[in-house]
Amino acid sequence: MKFEAIAVENIPLIQNGDDLPSIIFENIILQDRDIVIIASTIVSKAEGEAFRLEDITAGEKALEIAALNGKDARFVQAVLARSREVLVETPFMLVTTLAGHTCVNAGVDESNIENGFLLYSPQDPDSSAFRIGKRLEIISGKKLSVIITDTNGRAFKIGQTGVAIGIYKIKPIKCWIGETDLFGKTLEITEEAIVDELAGAANLLMGEGGGGIPVVVIRGLDYYFEDNAFIKEMYRPEEKDVIKKGLRCLQKKG
Ligand code: GDP
Ligand code: MN
Ligand code: MN
Repeated sequence: MKFEAIAVENIPLIQNGDDLPSIIFENIILQDRDIVIIASTIVSKAEGEAFRLEDITAGEKALEIAALNGKDARFVQAVLARSREVLVETPFMLVTTLAGHTCVNAGVDESNIENGFLLYSPQDPDSSAFRIGKRLEIISGKKLSVIITDTNGRAFKIGQTGVAIGIYKIKPIKCWIGETDLFGKTLEITEEAIVDELAGAANLLMGEGGGGIPVVVIRGLDYYFEDNAFIKEMYRPEEKDVIKKGLRCLQKKG
């Protein structure tokens, strides 16, 4: 058993309005069932999500949080603009984004973009994955899955890893419940976060710095799913999310 992870070379510096499907298609010969993994940074750039702090005006809430965590209030305002809920205000901002992804700073980032600019995360990464995937399938004539990734920390471990924030034609979770283990015991709870594992694998080739590899193709794994799937299938239902409940309690005690 084996699979391949292929770095797509020669992707230019992406600009607002760039046609990502064409750019990807020109730089790799795609095969049926390839999984095309794309760093959210270039999706944001293509979608015109770059901004300058000078153009942001901090509101009352942003000033309040900035006084706590010592960040630039305009930066806090940018994070709030893309957040539906703030779970932690200090020493860093942990938020749930408008799309439902929980991460630090709502994915607002200032690395790998021209000096003086920051980047919002794509507003609706599933829609971005759908648009890119659909178009890439049409121009290549191949059946493809797409995963849009970002780099996130984890709550209980040091070190960031690639995670999926938007998907096209791949089920996010592989359910092992009902399968048997080596000794015939039936598995009762294991659900494998396939798209995060793939994002992590792709991130090994992307890196976090100036490597210039925002697209990786995973070949040789059979995860193509005929219908579209949605990243929100991965987000733990509110009533079952004990960590979020705990964080809300802490905020109230503040
Ligand atoms: P994120 O994880 O989505 O925030 O993306 P990163 O900023 O960590 O970048 C992932 C990879 O994409 C790195 O290898 C970067 O050098 C590369 N990258 C970012 N922007 C561009 C771009 O516009 N063009 C190219 N060719 N590479 C880029
Ligand atoms: Mn990022
Ligand atoms: Mn990254």
